[in-house]
Amino acid sequence: MEYQRIIDSHVHSDNSPDGHNSVINMCEIAVSKNLRVIAFTDHCEVDSYHKEGYDRRVRQSYFEVAKAKTAFYGSLLVLQGIELAQPHYDERLSNAILSAQKYDTVLGSLHNLRKKKDFYFIKSFEGLDITAIYNEYLDELIAMTEWGNFDILAHITYPFRYFYSVAGIDEDIGKYSKKVDELLKLTAEKDKAIEINTGGLRQKINKTSPEICIIKRFKQLGGKFVSVGSDAHYGEQIGSGISTAYNMALEAGFNSVTIFQRRVPMEIGIK
Ligand SMILES: [Zn+2]
Ligand SMILES: [Zn+2]
Repeated sequence: MEYQRIIDSHVHSDNSPDGHNSVINMCEIAVSKNLRVIAFTDHCEVDSYHKEGYDRRVRQSYFEVAKAKTAFYGSLLVLQGIELAQPHYDERLSNAILSAQKYDTVLGSLHNLRKKKDFYFIKSFEGLDITAIYNEYLDELIAMTEWGNFDILAHITYPFRYFYSVAGIDEDIGKYSKKVDELLKLTAEKDKAIEINTGGLRQKINKTSPEICIIKRFKQLGGKFVSVGSDAHYGEQIGSGISTAYNMALEAGFNSVTIFQRRVPMEIGIK
């Protein structure tokens, strides 16, 4: 089914090290694709904040998106976001980053375990215990959610992309149901949104993060808000897979998806 109100709450501009298009260019593409809402959520890796120049990058992103917000007023709702990764590894710094600007949308995400590389850069899982790794990943997501200064819990099966593309392992999240339930319950209790991240649909794994069973479970456990994001790093990826994410949300019992404006949830009907 084709949807009229396409929203994308997770995109990267060239202010992210792996982004390719300027904010203004991304907005032009979003308008040409008939999107209604776009949230820029450039990377901010808290555990390498100064070392990798995120201090400068997030400031630049924030002001470019502010300009775009005004320029596209009336044709596209542009939201000022941030993808704050590993925030609970340095809570003081994270809170300072968030209070420095008036963000609309904060994604909480986890790209690496403590003192380890981003899963994106891991070239082999040989000799490593995948189950232990994902258990530790879930423990960190729980700790991050307990800290809780974010709006959307992003791509909770991020390591699965790499278990599959690097080691050919198609991991079953069912193995982790107890811990996953704990995470989903906490997310629901704290009124956070869970993200349906469609980036994996463009990758070898060819799945959303997480899969529909988790969105259904989140609903059963009292979850109220679902967010949708393409995780676009190129203009052409904006809005990709969002219709699939809408179908999933509906199937799981959610009639709306949620955007965050000035950190306040606003539900937008899917149909
Ligand atoms: Zn991410
Ligand atoms: Zn991202």
